[in-house]
Amino acid sequence: MNLPGEDELTGLRGRRAFLQLLGRQVVVACEHRSSMALVVVDIDGFAQVNAVHGFEAGDAVLRHLAAQLQAVARKQDYVGRIGDDRFALVLTGMLNRGHVELALQKLARLLEVPCDAAGVRLRIAVTSGIALCPHHASHAEHLLRRAESALARARQAGARFGVAPDGADLDISDMWDLEMQLAGAVERGEMELFYQPKIDARDGSVVGAEALMRWRSPSRGMVSPAVFIPIAERSGEIRRLTLWAINTALRQAGQWPTHGRPNSVAINLPGMLAVEPDLPELVDSALKLWSGPDVRLVLEITEGSIVDAARAFPILARLRAMGVRVSIDDFGTGYSCLAYFRSIPADELKVDRSFVTPLPGDEPSADLVRFVVSLAHRFGLSVAAEGIENEETAACLRGLGCDVLQGYLFGRPMASADYARWLVRAQPAAATV
Ligand code: C2E
Ligand code: MG
Ligand code: MG
Repeated sequence: MNLPGEDELTGLRGRRAFLQLLGRQVVVACEHRSSMALVVVDIDGFAQVNAVHGFEAGDAVLRHLAAQLQAVARKQDYVGRIGDDRFALVLTGMLNRGHVELALQKLARLLEVPCDAAGVRLRIAVTSGIALCPHHASHAEHLLRRAESALARARQAGARFGVAPDGADLDISDMWDLEMQLAGAVERGEMELFYQPKIDARDGSVVGAEALMRWRSPSRGMVSPAVFIPIAERSGEIRRLTLWAINTALRQAGQWPTHGRPNSVAINLPGMLAVEPDLPELVDSALKLWSGPDVRLVLEITEGSIVDAARAFPILARLRAMGVRVSIDDFGTGYSCLAYFRSIPADELKVDRSFVTPLPGDEPSADLVRFVVSLAHRFGLSVAAEGIENEETAACLRGLGCDVLQGYLFGRPMASADYARWLVRAQPAAATV
């Protein structure tokens, strides 16, 4: 069947229209680094329904299944009829595999109720095949083929549904796999924190360190936080990772030599935790457990991740009242309005690397930094610049009035023990172990 647009019988998208939509959704999922599931659903023994009860009954069964699939679909999902008795469901923004299975369970429950097929009551049974984007494929036709072959295999095995197997023709992205391996990585001792120094722009002394998470996966080696943090944010694992990071950083910072001022350690706080009302209590108990008089905690929160300032700001304010410093990370990449400066409960703005790297020599970046510095100072905030790789950039940023400098020029992120040794070398006079 190759219907353009709408399928007359069910009112759903026909195969062509559905494939077009699937193509668009695949692009959206890849661009937004979100995931999506394609579920292909086939009626068991549909030919017999037609043969035994007649076409009218067959049509009623198709309409019934179409309605149940629409009942399973959420607002953001799509249903289509892609073959005679074959339907497809696109589930967008899936957090994990469990969500697809929930949808299928819901469908199975709905189908337990027999349908009225031209006077006969019939129970419909279906078999489904699942393929995930971008895990299994990042092209619509590829994805459909993988879901259909998963369905064929499930049918052969007599299973209710099947998930496309991982194979050599897999897409580069294997987020779903990573997501599963990431769960429990803390407990298995695979996570580590590396520390990168933050330097006082005026006198070159060390003001503290930023903790950057590393994942030593047994099967993949070192995985970059740029890869696993977005996955952890989607799966919810980020909460456990962040609490682990706060506790670990405070514990390790307590073991570093003091150097004339307390060691300050910065943790990256994901925006979704900044709206959790019990965050201050969680941080407080970590501070009570680990933090001595020589350790200060900083929380770096990415500007763009504060989506709900009305909820996040009071929580950040409570943290500051506890003595925790708040730094707004990657500043300049979000969409903050100027009113931000007046109300933001922060101590530091950290200018994003993309404005730092072109300096000196790029006037627009210099103007932006100059502007941020003047406004920040006006409102009592200090300004940090990250990603400084050479002396010329550092000199330029000092000239523009930045207070804190960070980048490979001063030190790469290093393991806790290496950072402790680096501190002794960097501040030999003041360091006391
Ligand atoms: P970020 O917080 O902006 O961290 C700065 C990133 O820039 C780090 O990358 C750091 O290694 C890198 N960097 C520092 N100096 C230089 C330099 O001079 N040149 C260049 N090219 N890069 C430099 P990393 O460690 O790969 O982390 C990437 C991002 O992942 C971080 O950006 C942060 O957003 C996130 N991240 C890292 N650790 C954590 C964590 O524990 N929790 C959360 N939520 N996010 C984390
Ligand atoms: Mg940061
Ligand atoms: Mg940053």
